[in-house]
Order: sequence, then structure tokens, then C-alpha cells
Amino acid sequence: MAIQPYLGLSAWGETPQQRGAAVLADPLLNKGTAFTDRERDALGLRGLLPPRVFTMDEQVQRSLGAVRRKQDNIEKYIYLTNLQNRNEVLFYRLVVENIEEMVPLIYTPTVGEACLQYGSIYRRPRGLFISLKERGRIAEILRLWPHDGVRLIVVTDGERILGLGDLGALGMGIPVGKLSLYTACAGVHPYYTLPITLDVGTDNESLQQGPFYIGINGHRTRGPAYDEFIEEFVAAVKTVFPKALLQWEDFGNANAFRLLNRYRHRIPSFNDDIQGTASVALAGLFGALQITGATLSSQRILFLGAGEAGTGIADLYVTAARAEGLSEAEAKGRCWFVDTKGLVVKNRGDVLAEHKVPYAHDHPFIPTLAEVVRALKPTALVGVSGTAGGFTREIVESMSALNKRPIIFALSNPTSKAECTAEQAYTWSKGRAVFASGSPFAPVEYEGRRLVPGQGNNIYIFPGVGLGALASEAAEVTDEMFLAAARTLAGLVQPEDLAVGRIYPPLTKIREVSLRIAAAVADVAHRARLARAPHPGDLAEDIRGRMFVPKYRD
Ligand code: NAD
Repeated sequence: MAIQPYLGLSAWGETPQQRGAAVLADPLLNKGTAFTDRERDALGLRGLLPPRVFTMDEQVQRSLGAVRRKQDNIEKYIYLTNLQNRNEVLFYRLVVENIEEMVPLIYTPTVGEACLQYGSIYRRPRGLFISLKERGRIAEILRLWPHDGVRLIVVTDGERILGLGDLGALGMGIPVGKLSLYTACAGVHPYYTLPITLDVGTDNESLQQGPFYIGINGHRTRGPAYDEFIEEFVAAVKTVFPKALLQWEDFGNANAFRLLNRYRHRIPSFNDDIQGTASVALAGLFGALQITGATLSSQRILFLGAGEAGTGIADLYVTAARAEGLSEAEAKGRCWFVDTKGLVVKNRGDVLAEHKVPYAHDHPFIPTLAEVVRALKPTALVGVSGTAGGFTREIVESMSALNKRPIIFALSNPTSKAECTAEQAYTWSKGRAVFASGSPFAPVEYEGRRLVPGQGNNIYIFPGVGLGALASEAAEVTDEMFLAAARTLAGLVQPEDLAVGRIYPPLTKIREVSLRIAAAVADVAHRARLARAPHPGDLAEDIRGRMFVPKYRD
């Protein structure tokens, strides 16, 4: 059985005195003021709690009020982290019932600021820190984790935290936050999740020299010593937690592609920055095509930015277009990239990073995006450059002259780095752009019409993919699974969403979205004979039954 409810009875002590303290200290068991009188007697909690028994709904209201009273987002983050460490079931109930309000507080954008301050707001450890000091002992460290049977690990080495760069050990906020989203959005039981930070040093000297930096000293280790450390880590995970799924998170470009390709067939693993982004962007494209009426294989996609996100999207587009009948060469020929130097082409005169090579076409070099748009006549423009302002008025107007409904995705985060705003895309295209962004934008009124931008948030994809891989015990996480996830997500967009230009379902439906994606992913695993769990018959119902629901157990 993949995801069992946690009983945790072994954690309860022998005497009432031991039991009371142990139960209150265990965030998965603690119900706080909601313990009933009977439970208080049975568990030795009498007197340790104020006498009134509250309902869970009352606790949620109290916590929500406390969050809302905090003046800034980092204070809200600290409150929520403390709640998670004190009463995890209540924390998830609060998040699930207020998902649109809570996600920006427990993840982006607040988590970025929280990572920067992780050293000074650090209160209680969550997750495992494995540094170079533990080289040769990684399996031993993994065995120290108090929960056995870990099924889902999110690991970072802190080199490229969101758009903030190298934060070293302070990056721990990211695996912690991502795993919270797995539980809130897809019902992966928190007992089985493990956040890990691999501390190999940092090249961010000012951060490291700060008084409260929590990681090891020294520059980031690279080369063979780094590779050996990662190799030991993966081998240790396979030994200690043989059923674990590994998500690589926020590694630098040079390592992200390498590690994904080196390990994806050796341990069930994926990289959300590359593959999750690709899937959510492709889902957006599928959604947009429901508006434009064109086919996927007839698109010409121009990317601004040729990093993990951009080439990941192009790779998955190729998988999808091949499934529609294009050859690999034809499909690749439909994806073009502009990076900091201009159009990525063969013979540009510089040494191209490996991940750009498949998309370096035989074409004369063109230096600027505006000229490239005029020359290549793309149907879709995808911004993944991490720099604001890349989609100018001139460019959006060119796209609108070339296409009745130009597809314009400004995916760079945070909002301040988006290539253009929703309002700019709609205004400059005279209301015709099919627009999506990485960070949320408010709906826009344009000539009496209300246009709702889609948010291509990875949260739509990775929790469901992970849940499906866990439920089927998939031996590998394949591109076909991310393609199935994209198709499923696009299939959940309703006509009323499309009518206002929204190409993703509302976030309030996230648990149902994740469930559907999980079932589709598990289906791919079974069909591809990668599933190690027996087929349960009805995949969706089986998975639904395993999802963690944040309510107290009697
Ligand atoms: P990355 O560092 O791997 O790649 C960035 C690329 O952009 C590099 O190729 C770089 O050369 C290029 N670039 C930088 N400035 C440029 C400029 N002025 N003109 C042209 N190219 C430029 O980063 P990434 O992981 O690919 O992420 C890129 C952006 O995409 C980030 O802002 C990130 O927040 C965003 N992103 C969004 C989502 C989402 O919406 N779901 C998911 C992942 C990443």
C-alpha cells in the first residue's frame, strides 16, 4: 500500500506523563484545543490544555484571523511555519480551505524572502541538512530521519533559488515549501515526505559572511568532488528509502540537466524547473489552441530565454508534436530561441550550452527579438528570460499583425520580471492576445470586456505527477507522464474559462486537478510497464482513497 494513514502509536509514551508531552510535541498527532475530554483523559492531557474544547472549524477561524492580522508576508510565513510545526493537520486544513490566499504565503513569492532570511527566522529544524561534512556517512544520516518509509524527497543544493540565485543552505525553504504544496494540493501524506538540502558551500560570499548563515563555510564545491557527493546521496536514498521518488529542485543550470539525465533511469526522479514548467506551459498551449482553433503541430514557437524552463518546454513540445505525427526534426524546427546574444543558430560563433544545441537551426544570425519576430513569424511567444520588459509594444503589435489570436506567455517570475504585463499584452494586441504569466496578474477590463489572464503555475502539475508516480510506484518518471499531465490539465479547462481567455482551471479546484493528473500519470506508468504496484482497477478512485485529508482522527 503506497500511502497509508499515519497512526504513530509507537511515538506515544508508556506513562500518562510521557504520553501527554509526546502527543503535544508531535505535529502529526497534536490537535491542540480540539482534543476531546475523552482523549484528554486517555492521553494524559488534562490540565496541559485550557478546559474548553474547540472544533476544528473554530481553530481554523482563529488561525486565519491570526494570519490576516500579521502586517507583512514574512510574519505570516513565520506564523504558518510555526503552526505547521505545532499542529500539521490544522495547518493543512487552513491551507486547503484558503488555497488562493495561502499558496503565495507558503510558496512563491513569500518563500523567496523567507529563504533570504532563513538564518534569522530559523526556529525549529524541518528536513535534513546534508553537508560535505557528512561525506561518506550519508546513508547513516538518512537513517536518522524519524519517519521510516519515506516516499517523496525534494532535494536542492541551493544554487539557483527561484530568481534569487545562490543561497546555499538557506535554500531549505524551497523543498519544505514544495512538499507542503504536495500535501495541500495532492494529498500526499506529510509523514512520507522529506525535504533535503545538500550543502556544498556557496559562492554568495556576502550571505555566507552574515552573522546568522546556517550552512558550511567555503566556496561551492564543483567538479568530481560534487559529482561523487551526489552519487553517494542517490545511492544512499536508494538503499535507505527504496520506494522514494526524488525531485531535483533549484539546481544551477550546469547541474540541473546533467543530474536529471544521469539519474532519471536509475531512480524515479524528475526536475520540476525543467519538466514541471514544460508541462504547465504545454497545458497552456493546449488551452490556447482551444481558443485559436489551430493544431499543436502547426505552431511556430519563439522563446525569449534558453535556460531550464525554455528548453524544457521545447523538449516536451517535441514529444507532443511527434505524437501528432511530426518527425523529431520537424518538431524541433518549430521551436526557436533568442538568448542574451540573439537568435540561437548554428555557427553563431560562440560555444552553445548542450541543452541549446538541438534548437540551434541552420539560419542566419539575427540580433534582436523584434527582428526575429518579423523574420520568423511565430504563432506563439514564450518569455522565460527572467528579465522584465522583453516583450515591447512593438513586439506585441508585430505578433498581433501576424496572428488573429497571438499566443503570448510571459512566464518569468516574480511579477516584476514578467516580459510584459497582462494589461500590456491585452492593450497592445487590442484584446486579441491569449495571455498567460508565471506570476498572477489581476483580470483586465478592455473595451468593456473582462479578460482573465491564466497563471502557468507549476503547482498545477508537480503535485499530481508526484502523486501518480507514488501511487503506481513508477520505476521512472517519463516525458510521456508530463505530456499526459499537460493534456489532462488542459482538458479540465471549462468553456466559461476559455470565454474570458483563462487557459487554466481556477486554483480552487487544485485537489481535483491533481487527482485527475495523478490518475493519468499512473495510467501511463501501467501502460509502459513501469508501475511496480498492482493495477487497482479504478485508478482515480484508488488514488482518491489514499489522499491525505486534513481532518483529525479519532
Ligand atoms: P535559466 O537561468 O535557466 O534561464 C534563463 C535564460 O534566459 C538563459 O538562457 C539566459 O541566457 C536568458 N536570458 C537572460 N536574460 C535575457 C535577456 N535579456 N534576453 C534574452 N535572454 C535572456 O532560468 P529558467 O529556469 O529557465 O527560468 C527563467 C524564467 O522562467 C524565470 O524568471 C523563472 O521564474 C521563470 N519560470 C516560470 C515558470 C512558470 O511560470 N511556471 C516555471 C519555471 C520558471
